[in-house]
Amino acid sequence: VTRTGEILRKTAVAMDPRESFEGIVEPVVQSLRGLLQEEGGGPPVLATIGIGTPGFIDKKDGCLIGGCENIPSLQRRSVAHHIARAFGVPAFAENDATSAAAGELAFGAGRRYANFVLITLGTAIGGGLVMDGKVYRGWRGFAGEIGHLCISSDGLWCNCGSRGCFEQYASGKAIARIYAEKLGKRGLCPAGELTPKLVAERAREGDACARDTMEDAGRWIAQAFGSILNILDLEACIVGGGVSEAGETLLEPIRRHLPDHCWPQICSGVAVVAAELRNDAGILGAAAQAFERLGA
Ligand SMILES: [Zn+2]
Repeated sequence: VTRTGEILRKTAVAMDPRESFEGIVEPVVQSLRGLLQEEGGGPPVLATIGIGTPGFIDKKDGCLIGGCENIPSLQRRSVAHHIARAFGVPAFAENDATSAAAGELAFGAGRRYANFVLITLGTAIGGGLVMDGKVYRGWRGFAGEIGHLCISSDGLWCNCGSRGCFEQYASGKAIARIYAEKLGKRGLCPAGELTPKLVAERAREGDACARDTMEDAGRWIAQAFGSILNILDLEACIVGGGVSEAGETLLEPIRRHLPDHCWPQICSGVAVVAAELRNDAGILGAAAQAFERLGA
């Protein structure tokens, strides 16, 4: 990736999450060597390496100290340290949603705003904050866990150990689950696998249960955004992740419900928009955070 956000080369490496640390990181090192060779192997082309992973990554040493239970061998290890040593350039790792916020700020929908919140709606909900033109990471680098904002104090239990977390109500997984529940209550047994993409499509086609589901998700998202806006007075709320491909089917109810959860003076003029980087968000976000931290 160039400093202006152009992707020169990209590749994907399949990974077995039960592999050892070296078994996960070494194939990444090898594939990166391959990409550099394709680039001609001329004068040093690599300024820095950016890495995005799930979980809590200590910004001091890049150690992953939790929240990555699906890939246990990454626990207490630093992917950034390993990769920096392999290539002899600085490498920076951070949480993938924080990294997505850095990407949107540098190259995407966030270019127009100096203050915004980004949520990534996928299997889970990630979040990132940009304030005064900079990604806000918190003192250890853990800021922006918006998926675990409590939106219903006696609500569903969450895998973080708390209850009523936003993630249990508006993630892609939650949207599919709530739609299946609505169909089930009406005796309409869902056929095949339900995905958030399918729910959004059916909502657009006029399916009442699907429209209700997107309406509910929009209301929960508005509640989360409203709480954050009341505290931080931001210019924009950006919705990313696979579920954001629902577009206006999701954005319209969020905008409509936002005034129910926020001071009118604070939500006035706030933009609610979709993220722009789509499938390249991970790559551009990791690159953007590395360039930013290299210059910091
Ligand atoms: Zn939670």
